This record gives sequence, structure tokens and C-alpha cells, in this order.
Amino acid sequence: MSTQAIEILNNYKLRRTNGRISIIDIFMNSNVALSENIIEEKLIGLCDRATIYRTLKTFIDKGIIHRVIDETSIVKYAICNTDHCTSTEHNHEHIHFKCQVCGDTECMDDLPIVPVKLPEGYTAKETNYLIVGICKNCKE
Ligand SMILES: [Zn+2]
Ligand SMILES: [Zn+2]
Ligand SMILES: [Zn+2]
Repeated sequence: MSTQAIEILNNYKLRRTNGRISIIDIFMNSNVALSENIIEEKLIGLCDRATIYRTLKTFIDKGIIHRVIDETSIVKYAICNTDHCTSTEHNHEHIHFKCQVCGDTECMDDLPIVPVKLPEGYTAKETNYLIVGICKNCKE
């Protein structure tokens, strides 16, 4: 059981349940975004589907994880960078890179993004920057 996961739950004033701790651990130990199915597979016998679904929803609301959209219809999730997200506000102006070979999607938090100025009358609610290509592990 990781102390880091417990710390996150404490910081966000969430009750420490084994399910929540295990799910945060999975995210902390992965450098790519994870689908609900993958999380389910990792938690067989520990957490049921409904608990995982509820937990992911809570984590999104709290700013612990965010949705990662790629060109398929599979929704993935990644842990939020605490430099950018707080318990009251997500700030996801970062690029997601999806590898066409292995299918993994990563957050590229440190790449600068030029802010887009929308025409008058338009309000952005969510922005998704996706680059599809070949990752460094699949390059050879
Ligand atoms: Zn976030
Ligand atoms: Zn790859
Ligand atoms: Zn991301």
C-alpha cells in the first residue's frame, strides 16, 4: 500500500478505501493513460466494475485524474499533474501523444502550447490536443 496514494486521498479530503488506494497506485505506476478495462483487469478480485466506475468519476471531479481522448472511441484516464490541477480547477492545456504502434497514450505536460484565441462569442470548456504518431519505444 503506497503512502503516496494515502497522501493524495488526504489532500483531497477523500475517505481512504482500499479501492481508491489501489486505483491511485495503478495510475502512479503507469506512465501512459489507462482505460477502464485495463484498470478492471488489474483489480480483478479486489474491486468490482461499479466501484471502479464510481471511483474514476470521483477522481475526475476532484481533479486527481483527467480524461484522455484519442482518435478511437476508447476513453482513457491519466493522473493530473499537481502543478497544473487543483481540487477546484483542472488545467489541461497539454498535449496527448498517441502511438499508432503500441496504442499507448501519454501526457506531455511540459511542452509549451500557444493559447488559441477563439472568435468573439465562443467560450472554450474543454480543449484536447492530440498528436498521433510513433513513440520512442516503437521507433526501432
Ligand atoms: Zn486535471
Ligand atoms: Zn509505441
Ligand atoms: Zn494528460
